[in-house]
Amino acid sequence: MSEALNENGFPGKDRAELTGMTETELAAWGKERGLPAFRGKQIFQWIHRGADFPEMTNLPREMRETLSREAVAQPVQIALRRVSRLDGTVKFLYALTDGNCVEGVLMKYHYGFSLCISTQVGCRMGCKFCASTLDGCLRDLSAGEMLGEILAANRYLKESGAEESVSHVVLMGSGEPLDNYENVIRFLRLLREENGIRLSLRNVSLSTCGLVPKMRQLAEEDLPVTLCVSLHAPNDGIRKRTMPIANRYAMEEVLDACRYYVKKTGRRVIFEYALVDGVNSSPDQARELAGRLRGLQCHVNLIPLNTVKERNLKGVREDTVRRFLETLQAEGISATRRREMGDDIEGACGQLRRKTLREGSLPGAENPE
Ligand code: SAH
Repeated sequence: MSEALNENGFPGKDRAELTGMTETELAAWGKERGLPAFRGKQIFQWIHRGADFPEMTNLPREMRETLSREAVAQPVQIALRRVSRLDGTVKFLYALTDGNCVEGVLMKYHYGFSLCISTQVGCRMGCKFCASTLDGCLRDLSAGEMLGEILAANRYLKESGAEESVSHVVLMGSGEPLDNYENVIRFLRLLREENGIRLSLRNVSLSTCGLVPKMRQLAEEDLPVTLCVSLHAPNDGIRKRTMPIANRYAMEEVLDACRYYVKKTGRRVIFEYALVDGVNSSPDQARELAGRLRGLQCHVNLIPLNTVKERNLKGVREDTVRRFLETLQAEGISATRRREMGDDIEGACGQLRRKTLREGSLPGAENPE
């Protein structure tokens, strides 16, 4: 198959990516190549179980070889993984077929395995506290690549003897999902395919920095995902200090779009709020935030800031988190603090990728420990 590799040794983009196709589309693709409809179904099922062509044992060998030359079944491979000694959280560095890489985080909760996936290589939103955006956005991920991240994690779980596969997905890795809208919507629809992984959209959370028109569009899609909004400030003045998107959409427009989302979907919105020392973490600011959110069906998730070396922003002390949380709750706002997971494995967005690229050590080998 070496002719299919580009100069970097990665399979080129000239092959069809079957992972992003619905079963109907895959069957049509096969039909053009003379494959009977039942083959399309078989291939679809194999792909969603994480298999690559050589493993598709109910297909004739010649067919598998032709398919390997013409198409990609698994566009995402685990290039590197780190397992937290603190809580078993697994951080993946995923290799894509063009040599780019993105990150994912697999967390075990009492309700199952939750996977944090990336939607773009990098990000162009420019939030001051975020490592994913430091080099801008290199490209969007395709729907098949987003699904491929889950399939790769499922293969890992199976190989490591876990009995369950990924049951919850959060779109909170690198990238702004609503800046890659069409591919994200296609990806969400793939999760519901009858012969696919059938992950309930109620177990999917999509996080945005607040692209107002796209938030409203999402509300119209009839896709019952949980909308998470990165707020990180009680007012526009403070929001503009860390989030460039605040210059485009006022916080009130973001909150209006949230109200619309609640109205259309009946689902509460989650606000993410990373506490930054000296910026947004005083009790007065908690009260101001509560005032803005009053009456909105929502929940606030307080996130301790992960310090990013390249940025001069500091997290807050534990008692500051507690005071902020208690103030919100006293004001009648539902709020919790997010558990920190994988603190020893560069768990925060974009950090492992940056470190690996900086050290020039993206290997084919797994597990650097
Ligand atoms: N672009 C989307 C999703 C990706 S980021 C968004 O902005 O929501 C997922 C969450 O992690 C966001 O709330 C983001 O603001 C937050 N985040 C980014 N860098 C962080 C850091 N260093 N510490 C804590 N949270 C961070």
